[in-house]
Amino acid sequence: RNVLHWFRSKDLRIHDNQALHAASSLAKESKAPLICAYVNCPAEFRWHGTSPARTDFICENLGLMQTELKQLNIPLVFLEASERDEIVPAIVDFIRENGFSHVFANYEYEIDELRRDINVLKAGPDDSSKAFQISFHHDQTVVEPGTMLTDNNKPMKIFTPYHRAWLAEVKSNPGLLDTVPAPSKNPGDVSGELKSFFDSKPPTPPKEKQFKDESERKRIRSLWPAGHDAAVARLNSFLGDKIEDYATTRSNPAKDSTSRLSAYFAAGVLSIRETLSAVRKANKGSADFSQSSSGSGIASWVRELVFRELYRQTTLTTPHTAMNLPQNLKFDFVHWEDDQEGYDRWEQGTLGVPFVDAGMRQIKHEAYMHNRLRMNVSSYLYCNLLIDYRRGERYFAETLIDWDLNNNTQGWEPSYTVFNPVSQAEKNDPEGEYIRKWVPELKDVEGKAVFDPYHRLSKEEFEKLGYPAPYVDWHETKQRAIERFKSDMKDA
Ligand code: FAD
Repeated sequence: RNVLHWFRSKDLRIHDNQALHAASSLAKESKAPLICAYVNCPAEFRWHGTSPARTDFICENLGLMQTELKQLNIPLVFLEASERDEIVPAIVDFIRENGFSHVFANYEYEIDELRRDINVLKAGPDDSSKAFQISFHHDQTVVEPGTMLTDNNKPMKIFTPYHRAWLAEVKSNPGLLDTVPAPSKNPGDVSGELKSFFDSKPPTPPKEKQFKDESERKRIRSLWPAGHDAAVARLNSFLGDKIEDYATTRSNPAKDSTSRLSAYFAAGVLSIRETLSAVRKANKGSADFSQSSSGSGIASWVRELVFRELYRQTTLTTPHTAMNLPQNLKFDFVHWEDDQEGYDRWEQGTLGVPFVDAGMRQIKHEAYMHNRLRMNVSSYLYCNLLIDYRRGERYFAETLIDWDLNNNTQGWEPSYTVFNPVSQAEKNDPEGEYIRKWVPELKDVEGKAVFDPYHRLSKEEFEKLGYPAPYVDWHETKQRAIERFKSDMKDA
């Protein structure tokens, strides 16, 4: 009986895809054809607030993958589920109607996704000939989430020990970085019935998720070309030109010094093993990525990838983080301000705080924001404006092409650290290039005045700029945030 691989929106590639490879191996062994399916669910995009950029990116990658699979004589069938609770019946009916005996998929660690998969798993055993088995594979990380434990056998949550343990694990077991090949070609005569599967049309973004206009679509697509080949080209160019200096340049948003691979990781267009195998090559074949053994650029980049690994473990082991709750539940007791004007000005990049405004304008234009800015704009929203951090978290989902629940919820995890956007800008954008690029009102402001024009220019000079005065005072609002957090969290 036929074998099915079920793609979801985090494993959109045929190269080094663990579940797809297992499906292909079984199909080959049992001389059965391999079929692939994807359930398109517009309500799922709405539920997560997925951005037009990410929705389009997913649809485009699905189309490219269908073409690649077709060359291997493997059909990719698109099923439809208009509501979220129709996903399970859609896939289960397809499995039963077509008599698949074995189904393969990669784990997704968010609670709703796990529940969905458990329901499919439960539907498998059946007295009739329609029984099927479903196997789930770990694919998103090098080290399986849930396996890095503390001395007390609890899943690690703190980065430094996790990082140390991760480096040791990979060094002692470099086989973790091995990739698996793309699936084998289906035998020539995929029988009559299956032929119709090849006619399936890839989904297009639902109406409310479409780009505003053609120029936006073109811009985003040229910034983020879809497909595995594009991802590999980006990886190679990063490893060739940028990784060496990454440790020193990564925090400067004016330098194009990071990999910009996040969209590809989030949709699974590029695997983490393929990535780290390439890094290993650049590291003279060594799987020791510690600071002392690899160049500081390599060690520093791998460290970021380890954050990504940890955050998948966090989602799995503290599932409330995927349920709109902070990891530190005390933050759920904070009374937030209902400040619509503050929120709107944050979103529009018109707060009168150059570094924060620049970040918010970048995200609108590129569906992406540099990490240093993500840290600053989030802190400004929930500390200085005291607006519920979940509004910002949602806005990021609605805007970013690289939205990833694990990284986004952990990035937005509230804390007492209040970033000072003026000193942050002076340190990380020392020439003010990033600010001048994204806030054109300030493009002619010279020297250090660009970091804080309201306080550093004369009244007349400032008024000529057409740029707003700061919406709130940073020092006062910092104090207000600390007091609010202390008092509201005290009794939690
Ligand atoms: P590089 O610097 O080249 O890093 C390589 C890869 O490592 C990234 O592609 C990413 O997969 C991973 N990575 C880097 N930094 C982090 C980090 N701090 N945490 C976890 N993984 C990291 N990242 C997302 O992928 N999706 C999100 O939705 C997201 N939301 C965020 C929200 C906030 C408030 C913050 C502070 C950070 C968020 N990040 C998110 C993490 C980080 O900002 C981005 O991964 C990074 O900016 C992507 O750019 P890059 O690919 O050039 O990164």
